[in-house]
Amino acid sequence: MQDTFKHKGMRKRLIEKLREDERIKNPAIFEAFDKVPRHFFLDLVFMEQAYSNMAFQIGAGQTISHPITVAFQTQLLELKRGDKVLEIGTGSGFQTCILCQMGAKVFSIERQKELLTKSKQIIGFLNFNPRLIFGDGYKGLPNFAPFDKIIVTCGAPFIPQALLDQLKIGGIMVIPIGEGEEQLMKRVVKVSETEYVTDEFGTFKFVPMLERTEK
Ligand code: SAH
Repeated sequence: MQDTFKHKGMRKRLIEKLREDERIKNPAIFEAFDKVPRHFFLDLVFMEQAYSNMAFQIGAGQTISHPITVAFQTQLLELKRGDKVLEIGTGSGFQTCILCQMGAKVFSIERQKELLTKSKQIIGFLNFNPRLIFGDGYKGLPNFAPFDKIIVTCGAPFIPQALLDQLKIGGIMVIPIGEGEEQLMKRVVKVSETEYVTDEFGTFKFVPMLERTEK
């Protein structure tokens, strides 16, 4: 796969779109979108969506709304260089690479073996170096906890307790909640071992967060 001038131009236009969205403020996000060649992941994005329903596939408008969702979740994370980040749902690996490009130390879990195998190849080809783990995101990664930030990129029916436990005090989790067609984007800040402050940021469409792994 190649990164041509045409692709670079398409990326610039995408970034212009992101800049028009006043919710996206962190300049490092625009820079990351410029550096990570999104078209390398596109096949996988389509593949990944094959198991979601048709309405989602068409309604989501893969080429436009998907990157804005990635940018918005990244904005909500308030990412700093060196942050230790847990991502649930590696999928194509695009979000993973955006986080790496922004200087995060990334751990990403995917429950579908086939997707993880493919994203591993692309991520490696692009010279990013996250820890990619085949597993069930509901359990998180207790062995590598605590995390500064946790980003869930699939629609969860509830906030998994294991993930709350694995968040540092002062840490932020961004998670879309809801079992229907749409999920409500929530940001949870862990203010003490037992207290959390939660804010809501509108609805988005994600594939569901499913239990257990799949070969
Ligand atoms: N961040 C991804 C989004 C992919 S869609 C990207 O940028 O492409 C969400 C992904 O979450 C899918 O690949 C799906 O298989 C995965 N997923 C769903 N439930 C999961 C779980 N319990 N643990 C880990 N991954 C899960």
